Amino acid sequence: MDREVEIPPKSTEREPESQETEGPGKGGDRIRCPFCGWSPGARDLWMCSCNHMWNTFDTGGVCPKCLVQWLNTQCHRCHQWSPHSVWYPAD
Ligand SMILES: [Zn+2]
Ligand SMILES: [Zn+2]
Repeated sequence: MDREVEIPPKSTEREPESQETEGPGKGGDRIRCPFCGWSPGARDLWMCSCNHMWNTFDTGGVCPKCLVQWLNTQCHRCHQWSPHSVWYPAD
């Protein structure tokens, strides 16, 4: 019997070196929930309707698996939904 094994395409995304600037007084450059101010970290994942899990802020709200764009993002802390763009700090 000959079986074909499906190999899922590998993503070759390189992770940029994280330059976290944490500290009091340094604000304004962090992604945060507009409701409660929670800042997602690299380990925080969102689940798409296709069951794929990824960090939505890595891709601007686009699921890397099914390429659906999520215009709204749910906070992990207060569970409020808000437009993806408002999570980014306004300049
Ligand atoms: Zn998806
Ligand atoms: Zn929140």
